[in-house]
Amino acid sequence: MTDIIIVGAGTAGLTAAIYALRAGKTVEIFEGQTYGGQIINTPDIENYPGMKHVSGFEFATALYEQATELGAKIVYEKVLSVSDKENHKEVKTDKGSHECKAVILATGAKNRPLGLDKEQEFIGKGVSYCATCDGAFFRGKDVAVAGGGNTAVEDASFLCNYCNKVYIIHRRDQFRAVEKNVDRLREKPNAEFVLNANVTGIIGDNKVEGVEVTDKTSGVKRVIPVSGFFVAIGQMPENGAFGDLVDLDKGGYIVADETCTTRTKGIFTAGDCRTKTVRQLTTAASDGAVAALAAVNYVDELG
Ligand code: NAP
Repeated sequence: MTDIIIVGAGTAGLTAAIYALRAGKTVEIFEGQTYGGQIINTPDIENYPGMKHVSGFEFATALYEQATELGAKIVYEKVLSVSDKENHKEVKTDKGSHECKAVILATGAKNRPLGLDKEQEFIGKGVSYCATCDGAFFRGKDVAVAGGGNTAVEDASFLCNYCNKVYIIHRRDQFRAVEKNVDRLREKPNAEFVLNANVTGIIGDNKVEGVEVTDKTSGVKRVIPVSGFFVAIGQMPENGAFGDLVDLDKGGYIVADETCTTRTKGIFTAGDCRTKTVRQLTTAASDGAVAALAAVNYVDELG
């Protein structure tokens, strides 16, 4: 039986694998999409200790290689449920059933949609949640980015390198993003800030041709013609499948403190999927180490 199954191959999950493998445990990582998690889409990481600049793709790939070279087995199956059996855990996926001694839930979070009409229909037709992946398709064009966090501001700066004009549309006049990132965007000659405004519609018959923006103070609506619309308004967790074994807070995050332990013995959690105040690459990696060492102790105690 595998010692530890990790759900999610993002920064937290891969770091957990490295720590558990180095402690002599067998590890399988289940991933429903691709390795790397959210960070794989970040153009430039500048705040990971010891690395002045690294792209999200390079970072995630190095982490993936580090874990797999140590012996992590990555299984590309979507986990549907985890059950607590007498002396082991059962992990059911879309392809089968697997047994292990301990589980680390490192499911991260997925992009939050704005919930506008045509938003889902126009994915791939101008609507995107990933500037790094899709930015190059809009070379020389006008685009809009919705959001005021680090993702939106960094994405907008990145898009300024390709696009003719980049509108950043934020519902407040204060940014959640760090000042340095906002200042960098302000310096871009082709960035235009649309503040205190909500995106209230997507214009276009078969693809994005513009966004409707409503000024929050005056209520005045206007259409900004763009061919690309990047939604970067944060993430939301996907932990509903584990609600029988772990407590979820009202936002759907797994309740666990800094020890990364949940209310069920042998079920641990790490990274953006758990309750915490700071969701950063460093804290995801830190959680991975903490959860792995807790899981290793648990497995050792099982004997
Ligand atoms: P975030 O920090 O949660 O910011 C989300 C932004 O979207 C906020 O400005 C929020 O507005 C806005 N928003 C949320 N719901 C909205 C809605 N329904 N309509 C309009 N606007 C909405 O998310 P994030 O930028 O994706 O970042 C997630 C985490 O990753 C953060 O901790 C961030 O610092 C971190 N991150 C770090 C880096 C880096 O270090 N290089 C890069 C990217 C992300 P309000 O401000 O009004 O709430």
